[in-house]
Amino acid sequence: MSTIASNLQAVRERIVLSAQRCGRDPAEVRLIVVSKTFDARAVCDARAAGALEFGENYLQEALAKMAATEQLCPRQDAPLVWHMIGPIQSNKTRAIAEHFDWVHSIERAQIAQRLSAQRPASLAALKVCLQINVSGEASKSGVNPDELGELARSVADLPRLELAGLMAVPAPSDDPRLQRAAFARLRGLSEDLRAAGLIGHELSMGMSGDLESAIAEGATMVRVGTAIFGERAKSIPSSG
Ligand SMILES: *Cc1c(COP(=O)(O)O)cnc(C)c1O
Repeated sequence: MSTIASNLQAVRERIVLSAQRCGRDPAEVRLIVVSKTFDARAVCDARAAGALEFGENYLQEALAKMAATEQLCPRQDAPLVWHMIGPIQSNKTRAIAEHFDWVHSIERAQIAQRLSAQRPASLAALKVCLQINVSGEASKSGVNPDELGELARSVADLPRLELAGLMAVPAPSDDPRLQRAAFARLRGLSEDLRAAGLIGHELSMGMSGDLESAIAEGATMVRVGTAIFGERAKSIPSSG
């Protein structure tokens, strides 16, 4: 078995164990394999081991990788599902609307409006999550919780987007109680907006270092890179 395949199996076991520990059905938790900085060969290795959903942060890198993956391991019966999980500049929205199935990182109404307007009619509505800053000063990404209601109302009205849920990247912590507190905060915000009928049930939270805590607090999608592919090179593309 390749290293990627055995790492993937270990991550799946972590997901199953943590779901079982809190009485959840492991099938409720989808694994998004975060392939940023790794190449199409790595994506195809993960795919050969059963992974179908991939997360990317940088548009140009992702587009090149999608094309290379299609060459290297085409399989029309089970197309890959691509998730944009990185910050989005407005000049990138058209290509994102054309090439991705999900966007987890909506922080501004203007970006959502552009994605909706640019989503091709031939494709299903683009599924999106609103990214929330649950760590205050410690994080630069995500909308502040007190501005969330307004953002949710404007995104919920957009015709070519489906507002599936919320996403967060809390400040890293080794303390499971701190990890869970941040994820519990996201869950609470999600419950309020669901009660108001504005969003779906998806909670995109949990990464290599904290997926157990996220699953205990209700994660429906975990985004895992390092635990599957190993450490990323220190220098990452600064734009794209
Ligand atoms: C890179 C990244 C991940 C994956 O993090 P790991 O710690 O490598 O599992 C998850 N979510 C987002 C938004 C990321 O940018």
